[in-house]
Amino acid sequence: MNNNNKVLSFDDILLVPQYSDIRSRSEIDTSVKLKKNNIEINLDIPIISSPMSTVTEAYMCNAINSLGGMGIIHRYNTITFQKKLVSYIYNNNLKSAAVGVTGDFKERLSELVSEGLSIVCIDVAHGDHILVKEAIEYINNKYPNLFIIAGNVATASSYERLSEWGADAVRASVGSGSICTTRIQTGHGIPTLQAIIDCSNKRKELLLENKKAAYIIADGGIKNSGDIVKSLALGADIVMLGSMISGTKETPGKIISIDGKKMKKYSGMASKSAQKVWRGSYSSIEGVSTQVPYKGTISKVVNEIMSNVRSGMSYSGARSLCELREAQFVLQTQNAHSEGQPHIFRK
Ligand code: IMP
Repeated sequence: MNNNNKVLSFDDILLVPQYSDIRSRSEIDTSVKLKKNNIEINLDIPIISSPMSTVTEAYMCNAINSLGGMGIIHRYNTITFQKKLVSYIYNNNLKSAAVGVTGDFKERLSELVSEGLSIVCIDVAHGDHILVKEAIEYINNKYPNLFIIAGNVATASSYERLSEWGADAVRASVGSGSICTTRIQTGHGIPTLQAIIDCSNKRKELLLENKKAAYIIADGGIKNSGDIVKSLALGADIVMLGSMISGTKETPGKIISIDGKKMKKYSGMASKSAQKVWRGSYSSIEGVSTQVPYKGTISKVVNEIMSNVRSGMSYSGARSLCELREAQFVLQTQNAHSEGQPHIFRK
């Protein structure tokens, strides 16, 4: 046991404003391209909707695809139902869905592939695991043209291992999600920002050595557009969103009325309630389930987010996500953080 290292989370840092010669936000390009063999994932915006049962089914996938992002169909359902959801993704879009690493995983994957799957997300809480290694190897052998997203991981060495095993993109952070109780229940985790910094430094090393280096997806705990800009500046290629897009029209589930307010359900996949819904029983609860205010359409929410992200890029003088990586950050004190919140109403 060792380590006096401190870990950083989003609110511990600020990006430093830089000289900018960007005259209009329309000059800013937020596109991102991920490649594997013949597969190219071209996104106009670096946003993926999380494979959660209260976030991403076909309606969300199609809506977020049309905005230039991507959705991953969740796996908390029967094979038949998941396959049907994948079949509903319009044909001009790459189809993406999640699988686990045990149980019906191989059969599920084979059915999804028969439905035209291009991107598979190995969706488990602890990605640095032998079962994930075996799943990645199995997929790369049997379906070499599937783009593999795996995770979650929290450290440089985990990131390196998953890259070596053959993951094409890795979800970074453990225990950060808005609905997550992993750190409380298990004592384990690393904040998303720190995971991005560590994975991204390792990635630079691997690329210099001409080794495979997976793309980085910042996942969990992203609570506003500022956190998205920080994630992208510090090395994430893409961000994965749960809570920020929960409660939108395109998420699965009905609008409910609570005290006259429109709400929708948002559940951690390891919450008691979500587990009971998808498998009729529960164990190892590591999440919570709640209702969030109804937010209207995903296009309204994502357009607002992206307008702020472009503004953030402009503060860094960055015309592209690649240029945003030149951004500089500083650590901030609690007082600096407090000053950054609207404080006119404070006594
Ligand atoms: P959010 O964007 O902060 O709401 O976090 C969403 C992320 O939390 C997902 O993409 C998953 O990585 C993670 N997650 C989903 N369900 C659970 C859970 O029940 N416990 C812990 N983490 C979860």
